[in-house]
Amino acid sequence: MGIKTKEEYIESIRALKPTAYMFGERLTNPVDNPRIRAGIEATAATYEMANKPENKDLFITTSPLINEPVNRFTLPPSSIEDLVARVKVNRKMANYVGTCHQRCTGLDCLSTLAIVTYDIDKKYGTKYNENFTEFLKYMQKNDLTGNACVTDVKGNRSLNPHEQVDKDMFVRVVEKRDDGIVVRGAKAHQTGSLSSHEIIALPTRAMGKNDADYALAFAVPSDTKGVIHVVGRSSLDMRELDGCDIGNVYYSKYCPTIIFDDVFVPWNRVFMCGETEFASEMVVRFSSFHRQSHGGCKSGKIDCMIGAALTMMDYNGTAKTSHLKQKVIDMIHRAETLYGCCLASSYEGKKEPSGHYFIDTVLANASKLHEGKEMAEATRLMIDACGGFVADLPSDRDFANPEIGGLLKKYLKAVDTVPVENRIKMYRLTEKMAMESADTISDIHGGGSPEAHRVTIFRETDTESKKKAAKRLAGIEE
Ligand SMILES: Cc1cc2nc3c(=O)[nH]c(=O)nc-3n(C[C@H](O)[C@H](O)[C@H](O)COP(=O)(O)OP(=O)(O)OC[C@H]3O[C@@H](n4cnc5c(N)ncnc54)[C@H](O)[C@@H]3O)c2cc1C
Repeated sequence: MGIKTKEEYIESIRALKPTAYMFGERLTNPVDNPRIRAGIEATAATYEMANKPENKDLFITTSPLINEPVNRFTLPPSSIEDLVARVKVNRKMANYVGTCHQRCTGLDCLSTLAIVTYDIDKKYGTKYNENFTEFLKYMQKNDLTGNACVTDVKGNRSLNPHEQVDKDMFVRVVEKRDDGIVVRGAKAHQTGSLSSHEIIALPTRAMGKNDADYALAFAVPSDTKGVIHVVGRSSLDMRELDGCDIGNVYYSKYCPTIIFDDVFVPWNRVFMCGETEFASEMVVRFSSFHRQSHGGCKSGKIDCMIGAALTMMDYNGTAKTSHLKQKVIDMIHRAETLYGCCLASSYEGKKEPSGHYFIDTVLANASKLHEGKEMAEATRLMIDACGGFVADLPSDRDFANPEIGGLLKKYLKAVDTVPVENRIKMYRLTEKMAMESADTISDIHGGGSPEAHRVTIFRETDTESKKKAAKRLAGIEE
């Protein structure tokens, strides 16, 4: 109970016995599988960082719910200060692991449910907020990690859930019992599901009144019977399994598909069941929170890319090259614009009827749209500054080979005073940051496709006040 250490977190994940598959085989021990472990280590860093004395003021705070210190990754925001801390913690974490740490998504679910369960209860007199509050206490007291289980597989994208030929294309209730519900369906791209204690499911889209069976929110432990995790491919997965040419200390992102094969959820773990008009509120709240989390995180990843570009310039003898300095300035500009937009979204946040705080949606979505384009540009600039070995550096096994290792090291040497081993290590990191598919593709699709951000920006912007301003200036009275 209480704040966990990194080691306690890893052992608590080891104690779970999820049903998981990878490369066609059952994964009996995900924690010690190098591919999954690299993801678990990234999440473990959120525990490690919280326990460092210099980070405690930022990472640890007192929960008004349990009146005990908690890691911020279990704290739905109750003030502007909490909203701001979300961004700062994410930047610091990405700066530390250089990739996705995978724990923000669970917090984004908790922050959403803290607001929306209250709103549903107010309208219907249901008990979802009570259920959620008990769940939140459990998450906080045990310092747990949640997976945001949102993206349904969705079938034919032009059809609503109830219109699909196969009715299981969106997660739905197939049975209601006295003690709970049985759910069936599948969710795709589940970041860090095997690094998580709890799977927190929310709807992925707005629902019409015929979609009541699909308007669902609930949480189950990640090793619940019938929950099947299928780990997908990513660009560097064989390197992790091989234990060679990994590219940074030991962190990476993986995103399984989760199948709910008739999973029982007790009523006290159900947070919405059939209240279709609240599905869109869930989606807007979650996606805004998550898009903002992304921005805080990715500004921290650009920090790592800037550091790599500058170090490679030192190593290559181009530290004083003016066009490269300009490119680093362009990278800094991108990181700070992203960070600034996310911070602004927090500072413009507002108190909700539940007492929790919500960010400014337009600014959060603007930050994600910016990220989708500008992370690719920051990556391009890093590659430009570093050179072609980002693409095709020989394997560490070639460097270790007695026949060719010496020759390779001779020809990869650049600035005389820099050990060639350091230059090789830094190239390996740049390769990882540029090519880790799960992380770089999430810049675009994580938290929703770019069009979803654009639609939200237009829908949530007060366009009438802008027209009014223009008409007044033009002297038009209507
Ligand atoms: C690396 C990574 C990590 C992720 N992590 C998580 C996670 O932890 N949890 C989670 O729940 N989800 C996660 N996601 C899922 C992410 O939110 C989705 O990928 C995203 O919402 C897009 O959905 P999709 O992949 O089904 O693509 P699609 O919805 O098929 O979109 C493909 C394109 O078609 C367009 N499109 C689709 N339907 C329509 C329509 N009806 N009208 C107009 N245009 C349409 C989209 O705008 C997009 O341009 C992750 C995704 C990635 C890539």
